[in-house]
Amino acid sequence: MEKRLNYAPCGFLSINHEGIITEINQTFLQWMGYKQADLINKHIEILMSTPNKLIFHSYFYPSINLNNHIDELFISLKHHDGLSIPFLLNAKLFTENKLEYIDCILVKMKKRIDYELELRSTKKQMEAAYTEKKQALAKLEQIHLEIEQKQAELLSMNATLIELSETDKLTGLKNRRYFQEKLEEQLSNNEKSASPFSLFILDIDHFKKVNDTFGHQVGDEVLAQLAQLLKNQARSLDIVARYGGEEFVVILPETDQNEAKAIAEQLRQAVEQAKWQTGRITVSVGIATAIKTDNETTILQRADKALYASKENGRNHVTHSIDLTSI
Ligand code: GH3
Ligand code: MG
Ligand code: MG
Repeated sequence: MEKRLNYAPCGFLSINHEGIITEINQTFLQWMGYKQADLINKHIEILMSTPNKLIFHSYFYPSINLNNHIDELFISLKHHDGLSIPFLLNAKLFTENKLEYIDCILVKMKKRIDYELELRSTKKQMEAAYTEKKQALAKLEQIHLEIEQKQAELLSMNATLIELSETDKLTGLKNRRYFQEKLEEQLSNNEKSASPFSLFILDIDHFKKVNDTFGHQVGDEVLAQLAQLLKNQARSLDIVARYGGEEFVVILPETDQNEAKAIAEQLRQAVEQAKWQTGRITVSVGIATAIKTDNETTILQRADKALYASKENGRNHVTHSIDLTSI
């Protein structure tokens, strides 16, 4: 064999049609740990495990017979010490003097296989990382949802707290603090507004007697019933609040003195005519209608004076401050 082929950087061997090795180069012998005499005139299957023999029979020979060549057959061959070495095999049928030779070129595949294994393991790692990322994302989404839910709860709790801070516990009406806020709003609008607002203070007559006669618990029930009646009588724009004790206030937006008087009188009658567990209950009312120069104190003072006048007039009365000669 030519020296360059003998030491070429690939294995070379030639077999006859029966599979007997007729030529083999040094490179291949070195790779496989054999000497020339170990393999020449031996069947090529000496280098094969049983599964590889099957490949040879089912693929190698039929392909050679059909196409006269084989491209890129992947095959493992046994090293002299039993180790399996992977090769890529190209083969070609060569006919000379009516004799057939099958020349085979073998290229070692170990590095490539290692590389493929590494690629496969990297791919697996990437898939695992991707799954982890997906799980982390799902978890993040879950946390996001929980945060949103907590935020909604917080908002609703806040709304409840605000509601509680503005509400009178016994009657369920708005409390004095809320009333004062709304009064300030009305007063600041009042300067620009064409129509005035009115307000009235309503005080239960001789309520002390109710408590003294029927007890504090019944007194509370009367306060709650009156609150309900006030709420029912009020228009949707009116602001009804408990001012303190047995006193209530109602802001009547965009309501002049005559309308205010009519509304308060209607309410006074409704209370007088309502059914109470204590017998008759009456209220006295003092009304004031806002003027441009009003502040919180002045308007409430006028309403208070009107209320005092109603009490002075024998109670169960409605008085508008405008009708008091002293103001
Ligand atoms: P007037 O006709 O002059 O208004 O007489 P009055 O008895 O209604 O007025 P007074 O101010 O003398 O008494 C008010 C009473 O209201 C005294 C107090 O015990 C009672 N009161 C105040 N707040 C409450 C409450 O929350 N529940 C009960 N049951 N009574 C209350
Ligand atoms: Mg009072
Ligand atoms: Mg009273």
